[in-house]
Amino acid sequence: MITTTGLSKRFENNEVLKNIDLHVNAKDIVVLLGPSGSGKSTLLRCLNGLEQLSGGRIEVNGTVVDSADSLRVQRARVLEIRRQTGMVFQQFNLYPHKTVLGNVMEGLVTVKKIKRDEAAERGKLLLDRVGLSDKQDAYPSRLSGGQQQRVAIARALAMEPEVMLFDEPTSALDPELVGEVLSVMKELAQEGMTMLVVTHELKFARNVANKIVFMADGSIVEEASPQAFFEHPEQERTRKFLQQIT
Ligand code: ATP
Ligand code: MG
Repeated sequence: MITTTGLSKRFENNEVLKNIDLHVNAKDIVVLLGPSGSGKSTLLRCLNGLEQLSGGRIEVNGTVVDSADSLRVQRARVLEIRRQTGMVFQQFNLYPHKTVLGNVMEGLVTVKKIKRDEAAERGKLLLDRVGLSDKQDAYPSRLSGGQQQRVAIARALAMEPEVMLFDEPTSALDPELVGEVLSVMKELAQEGMTMLVVTHELKFARNVANKIVFMADGSIVEEASPQAFFEHPEQERTRKFLQQIT
């Protein structure tokens, strides 16, 4: 579903991603862990076409972006990938002047060209799925952070993505609101969605992921099942990280 081959990303002279070979299979739930600045967000942003690759290539659901291709070709393919990929950020990035339902419908109307009536019907079903049917007419500023993030998830799901990318979706939330967002993500995982998740929620990583990928300094240091990763980490760098966070 996702493959990166020798992916590298530089900002000026700073090599932020170094030769990343990552595999995410269909229905995988991969949790990406690593210290601050290790390149987790940059990797997700490369996968969603928010950053241009410096080297190597990515493949998402059969569409390839190769840094050796012309920019024109790369751009066309990035758009294709973006249509098939849902991304959820730490900051919810909702449209403040649109209602909850308006936020969820937006992409259906403008990108998918679906008629407003039908988009509204689909939007309502999605809001039901994230437990927010009663908030459809509210504006985002009237919602709690956990509710806003669930709207952001519904909005991403509206595009019927093949893959969902989450970048610290609960890090901006008050602790008591984290659970409601994680449980929506857990349901999504159980329904068979392919997910790549950057999170510090170790319980989610242990219980929901089928693979942990640990990054440090722009490289993948270790990949393992959650059990092996947490109980028998192989690399010294991984052990050090786990000691710091647990
Ligand atoms: P965190 O856990 O703090 O979110 P991260 O693993 O997501 O960290 P990134 O945000 O991917 O790390 O950043 C990796 C490195 O790339 C950092 O050194 C950062 O300063 C650098 N970087 C990220 N975006 C840019 C940019 N637009 N311009 C220049 N440098 C950048
Ligand atoms: Mg980050």
